Amino acid sequence: MNIVIFGPPGAGKGTQSNLIVQKFKLHQLSTGELLRQEIKNNTELGKEIKEIINAGSLVSDIIVGNLIEKHISNPIFKNRLIFDGYPRNLIQAKNLNHLLKKYDQKIDIVLKLSVSLEIIKKRILERKTLEKRADDNQEIAIKRYQTYETNIKPVIDFYKQTNLLRVINGETTISEISNEISGLIEGIKGWLWEIRQYKYAGKQKTHKFMARIAGINIPQNKIVSIALTYIHGIGLHSSKKICKALEIPSSKRVNELSEEQVLKIREFIDANHKVEGDLRREVSVNIKRLVDLACYKGSRHKKKLPVRGQRTQCNARTRKGKAIAIAGKKLTPLKK
Ligand code: AMP
Repeated sequence: MNIVIFGPPGAGKGTQSNLIVQKFKLHQLSTGELLRQEIKNNTELGKEIKEIINAGSLVSDIIVGNLIEKHISNPIFKNRLIFDGYPRNLIQAKNLNHLLKKYDQKIDIVLKLSVSLEIIKKRILERKTLEKRADDNQEIAIKRYQTYETNIKPVIDFYKQTNLLRVINGETTISEISNEISGLIEGIKGWLWEIRQYKYAGKQKTHKFMARIAGINIPQNKIVSIALTYIHGIGLHSSKKICKALEIPSSKRVNELSEEQVLKIREFIDANHKVEGDLRREVSVNIKRLVDLACYKGSRHKKKLPVRGQRTQCNARTRKGKAIAIAGKKLTPLKK
């Protein structure tokens, strides 16, 4: 399994790659990091590229191409690489395909983290104080974002043609993004089997694998129809329908399912249901639209009040949680 992850500077490619590496036992190949190491070690190459990187421009395709070939050709990393920050333009995308083919490998999935320039500016400022990277300042951040945008369009089209591209909203929380990525990776056919073999290599015992669907580890000891409701967007009705469609007895426990059945459920949910991150995103977009329209429902959302006509002065509130002062009314003291 080889993965490509890209997104504008500050999108969280590094953070997410790190999480994928730990979870799936891959090796992270960050061209930005390799180049920064060269600068830190004051090598000939480091001296040559320092100015380019600090100005927010791209280093030459030949230099980065040579760096990544060293890793792709290394048998230790064969089919265990996550490319973070490469390719950044069409030439590099084609070169990556060429190199992988040369060493008898391929890309299995391409993840694109989308984040707006406004959020990037904010994150870069935060990172500047944490990591003290020379290229992290507002002006250069904007330049790097623009360089990324212009160069990446043909790369996106290139991967769209091969049907490998998956776009992820990079503006949610680290764990939400990571859950979504894990779900996508595990959704790749045969991969679950590969991880299992890797994890348990050398052990004779047969192990029960973790049933992970839509990025969620569903409970092992519950019956399937209940366990599936742990996925955001699947209720009891849908979960029973899924079991019926796949001819899986809904009273069976998750730990009694075969690997094939778990895969079937996962594929069925992917194809027929909007769940977890996708669903949350759709709901938040819908709410935002209502708020922007400033209609009644939108104004209720804005005030965090029930939108469907429920009374707010008694227990009929749908939104629970800490009491908040609304429209000049006194805050009702919370019971301790
Ligand atoms: P990153 O850590 O991925 O944000 O990369 C930091 C800097 O390294 C970029 O602004 C570029 O100057 C350089 N760089 C990283 N990857 C590449 C690449 N694939 N091609 C050209 N330059 C790169």
